[in-house]
Amino acid sequence: MGVFVLFVIIPLLLVVAAATPSAMRVNQQRIEQRILKLAEFGKNPDGGVSRVAFSKADIEGRKYVSKLMREAGLSVRVDAAGNIIGRREGKEPGRPVIMFGSHIDSVPQGGNYDGDVGVIAAIECVEILNQHDFATLHPLEVIVFSDEEGSMLGSWALAGGLSPRVLQVVSQSGKTIREGLRAIGGDPDDLAGAAYAEGEIAAFVELHVEQGSVLYDEGIQIGVVEGIVGIHWWEITIDGSANHAGTTPMNKRRDAMVAAARLTLEINEIVTQTPGRQVGTVGRIRAEPGAPNVIPGRVVMSLDLRDLSAEKIEQIFERIEAQARSIGEATGTEIAFEPLYVSDVPPPTDRRVRRLIDESARSLGLKTKRMPSGAGHDAQEMARIAPTGVIFVPSVEGISHSPQEFTHPEDMANGANVLLQTILRIDRGGLEPDIPGS
Ligand SMILES: [Zn+2]
Repeated sequence: MGVFVLFVIIPLLLVVAAATPSAMRVNQQRIEQRILKLAEFGKNPDGGVSRVAFSKADIEGRKYVSKLMREAGLSVRVDAAGNIIGRREGKEPGRPVIMFGSHIDSVPQGGNYDGDVGVIAAIECVEILNQHDFATLHPLEVIVFSDEEGSMLGSWALAGGLSPRVLQVVSQSGKTIREGLRAIGGDPDDLAGAAYAEGEIAAFVELHVEQGSVLYDEGIQIGVVEGIVGIHWWEITIDGSANHAGTTPMNKRRDAMVAAARLTLEINEIVTQTPGRQVGTVGRIRAEPGAPNVIPGRVVMSLDLRDLSAEKIEQIFERIEAQARSIGEATGTEIAFEPLYVSDVPPPTDRRVRRLIDESARSLGLKTKRMPSGAGHDAQEMARIAPTGVIFVPSVEGISHSPQEFTHPEDMANGANVLLQTILRIDRGGLEPDIPGS
């Protein structure tokens, strides 16, 4: 027995003790295998997946990740909004939960990384904590949000802001959201029951693929997201007068298309020349009456402006409007803007969580970059009720919402390691500014 203690038990204890939190690493192979397995649900013959929320593929994919969560020892429930939540208790009762995860629903003809990486990596973090028999102070919750690509139903309900009107909307699956929610085990009549109160969540962290090409182009492994851009849409109507293309002299024309062309160039110029990272797009245009031999009397076109600051969007819009007035005068047309859609600018990610993500990445020897997110994520809803952080990993060539979407296994593992270390730092009190050295 003495020999056994000396040669077996003591070295074993030393090995376990050596597994300090900062030395824990995720299993890249397991992440890759699970991503490929998840890709089977809703797989398209020509690559990628169509796993729209509430579809058969979505329901099967949810079963698969629920099984992984249970096998990782989590106690799994589906809340009223259809979110799958797996809980691992902490050492100290009464502490708020540290929550992390993403989504597994896709757009039609989508890829295998958008959302999936965040979910599989979140489960991987729990696997590694189990493997090291490591107990956190806070309870942990892994979350798979429902219907991210359609309505952001899950995170919206969890943050408490969901309007029941959304239940009538027909989703991509062909089911209304009400029917869809029932199909995934939610309860459309108790959406308020899914909400967390402020203070119940210590922090929320989401790992996601960038879906743009900034990290890929610059060879940077980790993006630290500062905030998610707000999106404003307008419909622009330009009224001139329709007339015969053969008999109307050039100096007598009020050509709505010419005004539209000038305005489109002007929008591009204003958005490009203004310092900052805003983007602006005219993506749709329709000329009336739309015949080769008629001068267009009316053009209807779209304007999409995005930035982290609503004020900035407003400033740029005012400059565009002023230019439109002078183009209208010069071309004899009337130009009107009608607001079409506004996703208000969500609160920025939490400064302290950003710092912890940065520190975690650097401790792993990874290069980081602070950046905005041009696409929407569940994190934007979560930021309304909890300190929130988003970790980006590179998308090859910046391709997303496409079967060609790809993120290298090493990048997924880097992101998962940063997620794990960030959670551990939050658990150790990293969010409290008064703790020295945190
Ligand atoms: Zn996503």
